Amino acid sequence: MEQNVPVRVTRGHRHKCKDSHVGVVYTYDGLYKVVRYWAEAGVSGFTVFKFRLKRLDDQPPLTTSQVYYFRGHIPNAVSEIRGLVCEDLSGGLEDIPIPATNLVDDPPVAPTGFTYIRTLQISPSVQLPSKAPGCSCQGRCTNSQTCSCAKLNGVDFPYVYLNGGRLIEPKAVVFECGSNCGCGPDCVNRTSQKGLRYRLEVFRTAKKGWAVRSWDFIPAGAPVCEYIGVLMNSQDIDTSRDTNYVFDIDCLQTMQGLDGRERRLGDVSLPLHLQKGDDNAGPEFCIDAVSIGNIARFINHSCQPNLFVQCVLSNHHDIRQARVVLFAADNIPPLTELTYDYGYVLDSVVGPDGIIKQMICYCGATNCKKRLF
Ligand SMILES: [Zn+2]
Ligand SMILES: [Zn+2]
Ligand SMILES: [Zn+2]
Repeated sequence: MEQNVPVRVTRGHRHKCKDSHVGVVYTYDGLYKVVRYWAEAGVSGFTVFKFRLKRLDDQPPLTTSQVYYFRGHIPNAVSEIRGLVCEDLSGGLEDIPIPATNLVDDPPVAPTGFTYIRTLQISPSVQLPSKAPGCSCQGRCTNSQTCSCAKLNGVDFPYVYLNGGRLIEPKAVVFECGSNCGCGPDCVNRTSQKGLRYRLEVFRTAKKGWAVRSWDFIPAGAPVCEYIGVLMNSQDIDTSRDTNYVFDIDCLQTMQGLDGRERRLGDVSLPLHLQKGDDNAGPEFCIDAVSIGNIARFINHSCQPNLFVQCVLSNHHDIRQARVVLFAADNIPPLTELTYDYGYVLDSVVGPDGIIKQMICYCGATNCKKRLF
């Protein structure tokens, strides 16, 4: 208090959380200023010092309130879900069903106009790169000294063995094991290939259309889902129709420092053998999820997202056709809307008539840019 140094506050919540060994969820609540302290007699007669803390301004909203607000409201069975309009959007394709709810429209409608798929489809005009050689490990890759896939990521594996694998930090690109590797499906270096692991729900919002939330606590670094659709040549995209569900694979652009889509914390240097192509060219490939796709197409943009985009290479090593995987950027409490930064540059979206298109952002973040594009 005398030095005027702010204090970081972490709160513990006694929350019935099966992902926590001790049954407690901790949330980071930001920086506080000590404004007063005093001594008083504690219950056992000892002197106890107490401190009054005041939260500093201009910080993200408290996650504490989310933990308390939502506790106890997570449904246990389909019959408990209010506003259910579809029991499983994936039609049984995912290991965990994805219900859709609508408490906004009257009468409530279900999401329509698309077909659910679980794995990427390849447009006939796309030429697939040749397969990567792969490592010669057996079972699980554990030795970063001998695993050739681990070495591609630098000194060690990009993941740790924890609840099925967690990404240690965002990277320019993650090299996972692929079809030519000797290891099996339990290898930690296949963390993003294991399908959905959280109970996700698609729900209707008043202003943003459909949105996605999880009934389970999602720890930071856990993969949430891959962006699935049809892999296309970007030039083949018909821009006269709705392109809101087209994801440009722009890993190269992002890594070279142009208009980053990701919230990057780690090193963004690119391995030398991947540095190729024309710096000024747009993304060559994209994933079209307009009419065919998976859960990822329902995840909204936010200027303060809780997911980030990670480029992942597994079966081949061509960065232009990298897999696009969404990872948790923070510990995400249950029933919080999942979002990532779409990364549009303002005034960059031009309609078929040549006029710049604009879209208002409804993310509600304190640092919202007010426009999506
Ligand atoms: Zn492996
Ligand atoms: Zn290996
Ligand atoms: Zn491998």
